[in-house]
Formats: sequence, C-alpha cells, structure tokens
Amino acid sequence: MSGPVNVPTHWYNVVADLAGYVAEERRPALQVGTHGIRPQLPLSIYRQSVSKEPFIEIPPAVRAQYERWRPTPLVRAHRLERLLNTPARIYYKCEAASPSGSHKLNSAVAQAYYYKKAGVRGLVTGTGAGQWGTALSMACAAYGLECIVYMVRCSYEQKPQRRILMELNGAQVLPSPSLTTEAGRSILAEDPDCPGSLSVASSEAHEIAQEGEGIRYSAGSGDNHVLLHQTVIGQEAVAQMQALGDYPDTVVAALGAGSNFAGIAMPFYQQSQITGRPTRLVAVEPRSCPKLTRGVYMWDHHDALGNTPMSKMYTLGHTFIPSPIHAGGLRYHGAAPVISWMYHEGLIDAVALGQSQVFEAGVTFARAEQLIPAPESAHAIAHVIERAVRARETGKAESILFNLSGHGLMDLASYDKYLSGLLESDSAADEDVERALAKLEPARV
Ligand SMILES: *Cc1c(COP(=O)(O)O)cnc(C)c1O
Repeated sequence: MSGPVNVPTHWYNVVADLAGYVAEERRPALQVGTHGIRPQLPLSIYRQSVSKEPFIEIPPAVRAQYERWRPTPLVRAHRLERLLNTPARIYYKCEAASPSGSHKLNSAVAQAYYYKKAGVRGLVTGTGAGQWGTALSMACAAYGLECIVYMVRCSYEQKPQRRILMELNGAQVLPSPSLTTEAGRSILAEDPDCPGSLSVASSEAHEIAQEGEGIRYSAGSGDNHVLLHQTVIGQEAVAQMQALGDYPDTVVAALGAGSNFAGIAMPFYQQSQITGRPTRLVAVEPRSCPKLTRGVYMWDHHDALGNTPMSKMYTLGHTFIPSPIHAGGLRYHGAAPVISWMYHEGLIDAVALGQSQVFEAGVTFARAEQLIPAPESAHAIAHVIERAVRARETGKAESILFNLSGHGLMDLASYDKYLSGLLESDSAADEDVERALAKLEPARV
C-alpha cells in the first residue's frame, strides 16, 4: 500500500520506450496554398514533440495549475458492477473533475504557459464538440492570451452552451466552415450545408495563424507533445490502482486523435515494460469515424485543405467529413502518429461502436453512478459494458479501468434526442465511411 497520490512531477514520453518508432518523420507539405509555412511551435514545445527522453519535467507553474484539480479521483463503479451483475471490477479515472469538464485542460494550461513565455499574443485553434476550445479559452484567460476558436458547425449548432462558455472566457468563437477564411469559403462554395469537421476547422485556424501578427496555432490532440501532457492521467492512475490494491487487466479510452487514450494508457504501457505484466490497451472509436479499425496506414495531412505537413498515420483521408454524430470530439479523420504506429505493431487494440449503443451505455452509467458522461467518454463505457457482460458469461473476473474523459452536462440536447427516440441511425454514417474507404482504396497496399 502507498501513501496519498501526488500530482506527477514529470510527463512520461512513451517514444523513449518504442524501439523502432521514428518521431516526427514528416514529408514537406505537397501544397502550401497561397501562404508560406510559418513555424507554429515555440522551441520549448517543439523540443518536447521530438524528444526521446522518457521523462520531461513539468514546469512548477504548470504543476501548480494542475494542483487546482489534480489528482483527479479514481473511483470503483460498484453500482454499475452490481447493475450488470458482473464479476469484473470496473474503475474509472474522472477527468470530468477538471474546471473545463474534460482532460483537455491538462494540455491547454501547458501550451498556454509555453506560448506565453515565447512572447505570443494569442492562440487560434479548431474544436469539435467544444471541449478543447473551452479548455484553451480558460488557459488563455489564465495567461492573458487572446483566443480564437473555429468550432465545427454541427457542434456549434448542437451545443450552443459551449460557445457561450468560451465567450464567457473571452474567446472569439466562429462556426466552421466560415466565410472568414479562404479555406472556409472554398469548402462552402462546394457544399453550402457542410456540417464541418475538425480537419476543416484546422485548415481555417492554420490560415489565421499564418496571417495574424503574434497569433499561433495550438493543437488539442494528436501531436506528440499533447499526448505527453496528458500522461499525468495514467501516472496518477497507476499509483491510485496500487493504493487500492488492484491492477487493471484492461484499460479503455475513447479515441478522437488519441490524447486521452495515450494519457491514461501509456503509463500502463510503461509499467508493462518494467514489470512484464501486460495490460490490454483498448481505444474505442465511433463507427462513423473508424480510422484505426478500418482506415489506411499512410502519409496524410492533418487538415482538410492539405496545408499542414504529412504524418504517417491511420486515416480515412484528410478530406473525409464524418457524419454529424453527437460525439463531436471523436470526428477526426486520423489517429495520432504514435498511436497509429503502436496499433500497426500490435501493441494496442481498437474497436468501433455505433452511437445508439454508446448513448445507451451513457444512460446506464449515469443512472448507476450519478455522473453524466460526455458522449465521447460513453464510447469507452459502451466497450467496458461489453467486456463486463462477457465476464459474466465466462466467469472471468477481469479488472477494467477506463478514462471518463469528460462530463456530458453540455450535451443534454444530445441525450434528449436519444431519450426521445430521435437519435440518428448509423446507416447514413456507414455510407459516408464506405465512400471514404473506396476513395482511399488505391492507397491501400
Ligand atoms: C476531445 C475529447 C475526446 C477525444 O479526444 P482525443 O483526441 O482522443 O484526446 C474524448 N473525450 C472527451 C470528453 C473529449 O473532449
């Protein structure tokens, strides 16, 4: 047994433990549009993104911010276990406890700190469901930075309270695609009803970052440094599980681009390297955006117009616009290069689930545990429930830990749709995916 769990002093860099992975191997952009490419990362963050050191010290000022809400609770879901009548032991790490309501603040405060130190005036970004935009708007408020957020249009319309929250924090919020950028205008010219996507919002944010004086682009997920910042989650979880006298056989997290999955799972990967005791690491993605389970491992851009450099990753193609499902934070066409590499090497698992199963799981969890999960987090819960039911059938009492990446208090309109039987079916989404895969077929080898 150990004493109280502290906020980690270092971030854990999994790249150090991945023999064979080449960090940051990127080809130059095929197309740079009408803008020259201006570097977006301060040297401090760039160094983290290419580092091979296993541990990188968290600056004391950032750690002091973390201490406002960390360590987050790690809770055993006793009532859910009883409800499912399962021998499985189910635990969740509660990132919903952060002031922004999700894990995203872990990287937002770190990035705002480094950009401020580098003399930047403001940050621009793209956001899906609005969780990243909310976190960044809070971090920018804390460090006196301007904040501009391009919010995917379907989420902007589904979740108006997210916009209000960001504006309350002083951010400027625009629905994407918008008429304020060339990227947005060109996409709207082709499809005036485009629901938007994270890759479109990124194209718009990158354009502003190329042109605005003292304005830089800040990424909410996918890049190595963002994954790194999130590892405070898993490091705490390792210590908290030990304090509870248990250890997870399986760790589950939803996957948008990979930061919350990496955040909870990588420290358990590290433990498996040290102790030889394996933990199954499962990423859960939406059936409407199945980059790992159905995408192609290839070089691709991060934004819709192809103005960003390319990374080797599992992708559905940077021009793919997923159906407007309610888990907006998971509507990204690609998986983080590190996560993609680990999946390719068979070091992690992935499953894809449809949204009605996901909302059913979210409601089951809420009624059992009195905590409403974000639709993104409910993806992880749906897979945990699948496993717990299987454990009931096989009698195998596995220990399962999942990341409750955020709460769903801003997603009540989506829950309302589910409860009143108005949730969109997955079949239209399936057709969009088939079309995207057919387009990528020549790239598959
Ligand atoms: C953004 C988000 C996710 C998924 O994002 P990653 O890119 O995989 O980190 C999951 N849950 C919540 C609540 C989110 O806001």
